[in-house]
Amino acid sequence: MTVYNFSAGPGVMPTEVINQIREDLPSYKNSGMSVMEISHRSPLYEDLELEAEQDLRDLMHIGDDYAVLFLQGGGTLQFTSVPLNLATNYHKVRYANSGYFSKKAIEAAKRIQGLDVQVIENDEVGSKLPTIPTTIDDQLDYLYLTTNNTIEGTTYHQAPNVNQPLAVDMSSNILAEPYNVNDFDLIFAGAQKNIGPAGMTVVIVKRGKLVEQQLLSDVMDYRIEDAKHSSFNTPPVFNTYAAGLTFKWLKKFGGVDAIYQQNLEQAAMLYDFLDNSKVFHNDVPLAERSITNPVFKTDSKALDQEFIAQAKEHGLVNLGGHRIVGGMRTSLYNAMPTAGVKKLIEELKQFELTHGGK
Ligand SMILES: *Cc1c(COP(=O)(O)O)cnc(C)c1O
Repeated sequence: MTVYNFSAGPGVMPTEVINQIREDLPSYKNSGMSVMEISHRSPLYEDLELEAEQDLRDLMHIGDDYAVLFLQGGGTLQFTSVPLNLATNYHKVRYANSGYFSKKAIEAAKRIQGLDVQVIENDEVGSKLPTIPTTIDDQLDYLYLTTNNTIEGTTYHQAPNVNQPLAVDMSSNILAEPYNVNDFDLIFAGAQKNIGPAGMTVVIVKRGKLVEQQLLSDVMDYRIEDAKHSSFNTPPVFNTYAAGLTFKWLKKFGGVDAIYQQNLEQAAMLYDFLDNSKVFHNDVPLAERSITNPVFKTDSKALDQEFIAQAKEHGLVNLGGHRIVGGMRTSLYNAMPTAGVKKLIEELKQFELTHGGK
């Protein structure tokens, strides 16, 4: 039975990438060593890193005025690294509180002594996302957003049009929809959603914003990591290798614009079903809906659990929503084939037929 993995992260990876890893694993480029064993100071690794970096630059149209880093510590370490590296001028930052991961970022920033952390809450009825004020006149080091809220299924599909430096957590929708890198001072993303295995985090940061300073740890210092091609200490060699394969896969697919079209189609099919369903519903306003992590529910927790269990029996796995929100969540990352989404919709339809009376 084909298994379709809807996990929020680590998420589905392209079959072609998995097969390539299997092929390469015993002897990377005929070196007689696995990629997991090669030295990070060897030309084998240096080439691999440069190629992965160049492919990501091509995919996202990243100019030389930005550093592209492949770091460890996950998205979570970036909650601390971002303010430490970027809040150096005014010691004042502003965060949009759009859900679980932005709350974590706010908590991390608030732990930094002497940093003024302001928060934009969502106080608009009928909206699931805080509205970013278009006129922000005071001096901030950056305004922080989570582009895609992985748990809540909401997205800022575009950078807000504000005259402020922007720093964004793009962990769950990097490479899934087009953003203009030049709109941001910093973008970070854990790999385990749209890029590859957990353990590597992409940081894209404007070089001109990095100033010399004494951080708690040199591995958190973007300037040092940039100078060392992300190899200040042992980098996540295997993860960067696997990410590089995904970048090649995406280039071959046609790039971000091509996968975006597929992602839009998949999400539209699912939302169309949900909007016409008598059993399942999604409550996110149209403009704020995530195409990457659509969430939905029935009106009964027991029914949700029944659906999740039944879908699992049919090879549709990891459909449970995050423990704090419940219901169902479908993570439609780039590697999710359209056949998986069609099968899910069939499963939902079948379930509705047998449970239509609620
Ligand atoms: C998954 C995720 C994170 C956390 O990443 P870790 O690598 O587990 O630290 C942060 N932000 C968003 C938006 C995420 O989806």
